[in-house]
Amino acid sequence: MGRYTGAVCRLCRRQGEKLFLKGTRCQTEKCAANKRAYPPGQHGQGRRQKLSNYGVQLKEKQKVKRIYGVLEKQFRLYFKTASKTKGVTGKVLLQLLERRLDNVIFRMGLGISRAQARQIVRHNMVTVNSRRVNIPSFLVSQDDLVEIKTKDQAKAKLKDNLELSKDRTVPSWLEFSSADMRAKVLRLPEKGDIAQQIQEQLIVELYSK
Ligand code: SF4
Repeated sequence: MGRYTGAVCRLCRRQGEKLFLKGTRCQTEKCAANKRAYPPGQHGQGRRQKLSNYGVQLKEKQKVKRIYGVLEKQFRLYFKTASKTKGVTGKVLLQLLERRLDNVIFRMGLGISRAQARQIVRHNMVTVNSRRVNIPSFLVSQDDLVEIKTKDQAKAKLKDNLELSKDRTVPSWLEFSSADMRAKVLRLPEKGDIAQQIQEQLIVELYSK
């Protein structure tokens, strides 16, 4: 599946809020969403139009896609799966996104951003239940054991990342050992485990039209 390869700060500026896509840089004064708090492009500083209901729903969907680094086609597949699964569609959708392996590595603090966590997975550094998995969209399940299995040199870099991410709390659905760089999935994630404010109902309304 593809991924967005353009300038990520533009995404926050387009969204009109900080999406924390660049790790530690997001906490500094260099953050573009703070420095230029208006949409990107030639007309970014022009008069802002009031959003319609559809616009609000679309914006919320874009926000979630941008946070998790998922493109439209894959996002639609997640929605389709969520709508066929027992439970509240919006909540199942968020659960599917949180269960992605790149997100788990990010949540463990081993990647300073989801994009970096994705690279860690792509570079064959991760095992799930002792089997190497290099697919960022792999979905973890309850009782899975996610571990880092790589050379010491690469582990040193991951330790630096852990240090940089120490202010982020590892969610309670993961039992994380930083010394072993290992996490057990205690239960499936719930909406309350997601740090960012997401109105998933708006996405359900958008796709249900
Ligand atoms: Fe967004 Fe981070 Fe860039 Fe700020 S620094 S605009 S929060 S990605």
